[in-house]
Amino acid sequence: MAILMEGRVAADRLRDLLKKEVASLTAKHKRRPELRCVTIGCNAAASVYLKSQARVAQELGIGHAIVDLPEEIRSDALFAEIARLNADPSVTGIMIQCPLPAGISLEAAVSSILPAKDAEGLHPENLGRIILGEGRITPCTAQACMELLHYYQIPLRGKDAVVVGHSSIVGKPLSLLLLKEFATTTVCHIATSEARRLEDNIRRAEVLIVAVGKPRLIKGEWIRPGAVVIDVGINKCEDILVGDVEFETAGKKASHITPVPGGVGPLTVMLLMRNVCELFKESLKTEP
Ligand code: NDP
Repeated sequence: MAILMEGRVAADRLRDLLKKEVASLTAKHKRRPELRCVTIGCNAAASVYLKSQARVAQELGIGHAIVDLPEEIRSDALFAEIARLNADPSVTGIMIQCPLPAGISLEAAVSSILPAKDAEGLHPENLGRIILGEGRITPCTAQACMELLHYYQIPLRGKDAVVVGHSSIVGKPLSLLLLKEFATTTVCHIATSEARRLEDNIRRAEVLIVAVGKPRLIKGEWIRPGAVVIDVGINKCEDILVGDVEFETAGKKASHITPVPGGVGPLTVMLLMRNVCELFKESLKTEP
């Protein structure tokens, strides 16, 4: 059976590092990093995530507050609220919790956050910096995958890495982060499946990262022997959570594999907080 790549273990190391860094910055500058999470008509799934955010922020000494807006809010009122947070010097980072009501575009909302306060790294300017290889604030889930690869000391240079899924928050930024580390990176998407080429690509992957959201899309028998498999997918199936990869069969062929849940997930919140810490350090550079 493959080695389990557990997000919690990697998150513990990061927690210790961040806790020390936040304590030292707070003592030196007499104020702490502050995250504001904008929610609109918060649902049950989002409120679970928000509770975990608040708990992690408290453990690290980062301020955290929810700005809960009414479900019927119009785009212009949302933008006015974001402008208020942009202008508030005590606010370090801002994020917008999905899902948003129909009629409010996530892209437009995220683009209205100042890039210097964009806690999730989703502003077009921060996403663009990843192409230049200089992105410091990058999307948390993509970072979480890289963090797992680093924690488990997986070599990437010259390796065949295959990413399945090309969303702006996971697949695309992740493929650029892999490229930055000189992995030979292939990105698969719906048209790869339509062309019946998904299996061929999976079979040659030395590092496979799947972020699709379709239960057990990737068959265990397709996994290359010794491959490293990161399954980002979270799907509810008959009351249990499963990933996008057939875990049992894939685990017999892979050298390393993430469990679902317990793989990428536990790291994501910690990396959001690392982004807030990075934004705080950047903001201190421009203070008089
Ligand atoms: P999106 O729905 O935005 O993107 C899914 C991607 O998968 C798209 O690029 C889509 O391609 C591609 N795709 C869909 N069907 C196929 C197929 N049959 N073959 C190949 N590619 C396909 O999802 P996200 O990127 O936001 O999230 C992906 C998964 O990761 C979800 O399960 C989500 O819950 C999970 N997730 C987990 C997180 C964590 O912390 N663990 C955080 C964020 C997400 P196309 O656009 O061309 O159709």
